[in-house]
Amino acid sequence: MQRLGATPGDRVAALALNSDVLFRALFAIPWVGAVVVPLNTRWSVPELSRALEDCDTTILLVDENFLNEASRLKASNERLKVVYIGAGECPSGFLDYRRLVAAASPVPEHQGSGDELFCVLYTGGTTGHPKGVMLSHTNLFVASQFWLSTCHFSSETKYLHIAGFFHIVATVPAIAVMMVGGSHVIEPKFDPVPTMRAIQESKANFATFVPVMINMMLQHPDFDRYDLTSMRQCVYGGSPIPDALIDRMIEKLPTWQFIQGYGQTESSGILTNLPWHSHFGQGSACKRKATGLPVYGVNLKIVDPEGKEVEPNEQGEIVVCGLNVMRGYWGNEEATKATIRDGWLHTGDAARMDNEGFITVVDRIKDMIVTGGENVFSIEVENAVAAHPAVSQCAVIGVPHPKWGESVHAVVVLRAMMSATEEELIDHCRPLIANYKCPRSVEFVSEMPMSAAGKIVKGPLRERHWRNQPRRVS
Ligand code: ATP
Repeated sequence: MQRLGATPGDRVAALALNSDVLFRALFAIPWVGAVVVPLNTRWSVPELSRALEDCDTTILLVDENFLNEASRLKASNERLKVVYIGAGECPSGFLDYRRLVAAASPVPEHQGSGDELFCVLYTGGTTGHPKGVMLSHTNLFVASQFWLSTCHFSSETKYLHIAGFFHIVATVPAIAVMMVGGSHVIEPKFDPVPTMRAIQESKANFATFVPVMINMMLQHPDFDRYDLTSMRQCVYGGSPIPDALIDRMIEKLPTWQFIQGYGQTESSGILTNLPWHSHFGQGSACKRKATGLPVYGVNLKIVDPEGKEVEPNEQGEIVVCGLNVMRGYWGNEEATKATIRDGWLHTGDAARMDNEGFITVVDRIKDMIVTGGENVFSIEVENAVAAHPAVSQCAVIGVPHPKWGESVHAVVVLRAMMSATEEELIDHCRPLIANYKCPRSVEFVSEMPMSAAGKIVKGPLRERHWRNQPRRVS
């Protein structure tokens, strides 16, 4: 990093699939006080270019999977130094990481403060244009403690990294596992078969997945061919999870102890967790439908639009404050001010807290549907639709309706070799949820638009219905 001229505060971007070299490079950047900017590997060249410009970086690390993108980025930005961290020969015009390392002499570690930036992580873009979330060393240190208080990491831990390192859910557990001397199994990206094979071969005993990934493994025709019994603990989360999928996970993966995690990039990740034992028990002791309890050290409350804390079981917005809250959005003071108000980070997530302190995230506020004056939480409807045995994935959105403002519309991917009609799915929901929440229409698609983090992106699904009309967001 020194030989590249990186000085404290400089941003250093990386565009690469997960690998051991990327892992080491990402943790070398802060050594000179520079700021890590891992880029989303699913972005197009214009999106990458916008992010590079946004964070004003002149150094880009790249592996063999993104040579074409890197050449195009370099062609449009003369100042950009592209450093090759991939396997094999370094392409001409790029700087060779191995040569730089070989020629470097040991340098004293940068004596920084906890307030300095460790990274800028661009949000997943599930709800709009990505924003650069600025996280400091203190943010990540504190968030790592949250993971340590949630998971049983030790020197015996073999952590399977599936999420890209541009995601908060990859960076923070990586630090937490390092703190206790565990080891890392690094997979380039998620695909059901290579992931199941990696678990079998490496005997990884800890992993984090978004629900869609677990669903894809469980539904894969080769699922039973792999021995996945080395896995001891698994954090799932990052997006809502259908109740039916939790039941299937517990049934089909009996050696895995599941913990639900809820959080966001702006809070350095995890805010609440649902421990394994809370997935079981009689009556109200079983919290399988909840999202979890605030993790130790998180200051969390649920407030009304005026910022007043709501009563237990009432719905409001989750707000948090503390050492885990981001420093702000890079170069976007307006968005920072709108999100952190009086020191409280407004998550944009609607939730309830029960009398025992368990939080249930009911929806992203932006995804809530208002039909005939009634609020409908898309997650509740998705749960009802997904309980149908033929449904593989479901996303519920509001579509324009001349009388009710919005009406409830379900977009569904069916399981392979299974069928269901629109009428059948609507009838299936009737005994499960109130009439006004039942989908009025169902659309069948072969696949969902997904973010790089494996979350369903509802924007494109809504777009074709709302093309010529502004959508109200409550
Ligand atoms: P963007 O913020 O740009 O829309 P993104 O949503 O992918 O992108 P993240 O920070 O990765 O950005 O996602 C955090 C959001 O994911 C949370 O605010 C919440 O809405 C949702 N989420 C995370 N974990 C859970 C969970 N366990 N249950 C329900 N929703 C969750």
